[in-house]
Amino acid sequence: MDKAKLYADVIIDVSIDKLDRPFSYRIPERLSGIIKVGSRVRIPFGAGNKEKKGYVTALRDTSGYDDEKIKDIIGIVEGSTEALDVSFEIAAYLKETYGGTLSQALKVVVPAKAKAKPLEIKILVRKMDSDHLLSLADEAHRKKQTARERLLRALIENERIPSQWISAKLRVSSQTVISVIKSGAAFMETSSEYRKPGITEIRSAAPISLNDAQKKIVDSISRDMDEGISGKYLIHGVTGSGKTEVYLRLAEKAVLMGRQVIFLIPEIALTYQTLARFYARFGDRVSVLNSSMTPGERFDQCERAKSGDIDIIIGPRSALFTPFPNTGLIIMDEEHEASYKSESTPKYHAREAACRICRLMGASLVMGSATPSLETYSAALRGEVILFELNERAGGGDLARTEIVDLRKELSSGNRSMFSRRLKTLMDESLSRGEQVMLFLNRRGFSGQVSCRECGKAIMCPHCDVPMSLHTGSRLICHYCGEISEKPAVCPSCSSKYLAAIKAGTEQVEERIHKMYPGVKTLRMDKDTTSAKGAYDRILSSFSNGEAQILIGTQMIVKGHDFPNVTLIGILVADLSLGTPDYRSSERTFQLLAQAAGRAGRGEKPGYAVIQTYQPDAYAITCAAAQDYRKFYEEEMAYRESAGYPPAVHMLAIQLFGTDEKKVSLLAAYLRDVIKSNGAKMVLGPAPGNISRIRDYYRFVIYIKSPETDELTRVREYAEDYLDGKDINGMFVQFDLDPVNQI
Ligand code: ADP
Ligand code: ZN
Ligand code: ZN
Repeated sequence: MDKAKLYADVIIDVSIDKLDRPFSYRIPERLSGIIKVGSRVRIPFGAGNKEKKGYVTALRDTSGYDDEKIKDIIGIVEGSTEALDVSFEIAAYLKETYGGTLSQALKVVVPAKAKAKPLEIKILVRKMDSDHLLSLADEAHRKKQTARERLLRALIENERIPSQWISAKLRVSSQTVISVIKSGAAFMETSSEYRKPGITEIRSAAPISLNDAQKKIVDSISRDMDEGISGKYLIHGVTGSGKTEVYLRLAEKAVLMGRQVIFLIPEIALTYQTLARFYARFGDRVSVLNSSMTPGERFDQCERAKSGDIDIIIGPRSALFTPFPNTGLIIMDEEHEASYKSESTPKYHAREAACRICRLMGASLVMGSATPSLETYSAALRGEVILFELNERAGGGDLARTEIVDLRKELSSGNRSMFSRRLKTLMDESLSRGEQVMLFLNRRGFSGQVSCRECGKAIMCPHCDVPMSLHTGSRLICHYCGEISEKPAVCPSCSSKYLAAIKAGTEQVEERIHKMYPGVKTLRMDKDTTSAKGAYDRILSSFSNGEAQILIGTQMIVKGHDFPNVTLIGILVADLSLGTPDYRSSERTFQLLAQAAGRAGRGEKPGYAVIQTYQPDAYAITCAAAQDYRKFYEEEMAYRESAGYPPAVHMLAIQLFGTDEKKVSLLAAYLRDVIKSNGAKMVLGPAPGNISRIRDYYRFVIYIKSPETDELTRVREYAEDYLDGKDINGMFVQFDLDPVNQI
């Protein structure tokens, strides 16, 4: 064995750039041989020897410093575990590519140990025999208590059902569960054993035999895995084309090879339909990470991953850093989603970070989408990513028939309603057949704002450059900083007393529908109706139970939900998201519309999608209606190339924030000059951000473009050095490489 080392390099937990380098410490004898690379240690720091925490990044025989000046490590942080070597490499990559400090990057990669209170899970346990349950279920059926019936039938098949499955998969409310318990059919058991939650399979689906297109993909990627080729793959396939089935097979393959799998999905698409399929296949070798978990719970999952307790982790962006000993496969579903980009420093993109992790681990990267990002699709066309297509719905069923309605023509022929004649006709038909309808309004932003009928000014937040929103009663709330005030009696600008709230688009739609179809039940899903915990699931479950015939909502309703009885989807104003000042507005519009159109007709009944628009010729709209991704890609790529936007070029956004508008704008101008004189060619700005002030901080943005990320890395490092030497009190600067939102 090696002689124990005497010194350790330690990265200290601070977010100050100047301290972002390893500091040398002596390893006291009692800790000799115990402290390793990756250990979390307590150290004295600075003149006052204040105790700090940090990670050991290297062990050394000599310190290279005067021995007198070197301080001793105090101890190991209790309950901590070591960071894996590879975690340091990933952290270093994040810092180098996206900026920030190494300690900020380490916080992303290594979950902090938090006091994990023992986890409790609740399991509903069957108490009656099947015959009794069956008669209760029949009774519920007669009384049309559909949720109750579902739960009772599930109990017949499963002795134990975890409560999370009851709410999420069976979509049964807690009132119903309580009434079932009261009837003596089952009881609730509380278990603190998280590791083996004892999930009895919720009817594991009969094994599906792959169709030819799926088989080709699975075979080809499996062959690469066998040969030790860790490739990058894109599966381009419409919703329902069988991508998830392919992911499952590939995950099985990786697990059989003794390797682990990270399955990434955007938070909003974390549906229990998907989870259920993974659970059914892999049982308790699967675990899930999500944003509602406490740090302790997340830490727990990482420990399980490290110790080999699980093979597969499912979760959003952050699941990427699950410390498996031998990750063999990373799957990124809906790879085009903007939520894969982090919004805090380091502002990494999960796709890029996944590529790096795959390279480090020798793992394969499989991405999937119905509407791939331009980044990935162009890489596929260049041959850097292997492209597979799934063109048909695996389970049968056709795509919705999509029609575009020109709202300008409706107007000129005297129809001022928000529903075109065609949409109205199709709604009448669907409703009269007892089928369901979804109405989609992709309106973002300032619904609910209060403005003056005389001078036209909106009531703005005193701290932000955004209008306040009116809430129940007469309270005004700022959605950016939380400022609350009372609605004033008169306009603050002109003293007029005619102040009126602009209704949320979805609320107006609902009112119109109630007038048009009295007696038809509706549900509304938007920011206002889903703010309460669990509201989102409740609305979806009552719609899927058929408790309402029409669901009205914002983009929340278009993602990943499967309602077989929906035969019509109406997109009320498709161009609302086109006019936003963002180079990705066409891409977003296309993705939303293509996805929305994919909602209808997933069951056996044929479906219609009606796209109402004032710009029937915009390619984002025509291509979405035709479900023609390739055509959209070509149009959009031509635009990105001519206008110079990613992925045609790379782009670095530098955001400067400060409470003193003059000082920030001056610093921004200096910085721009410094960057230009340093040789950067394409420099834009500084300009005020889209929202120029948030929480009293003014924002300015500089954009630098370059064909190569290397040049942008140099610019960023140069800017960081420059700012390091300046007194920028009260201001701060953030870097964003290839931002997904124009800021
Ligand atoms: P995607 O992930 O592309 O949306 P899924 O894998 O969820 O597609 O498949 C859509 C539906 O088709 C699911 O209900 C699935 O069980 C079914 N399915 C998938 N592959 C097949 C197949 N080879 N044969 C029959 N049904 C399939
Ligand atoms: Zn006014
Ligand atoms: Zn505000």
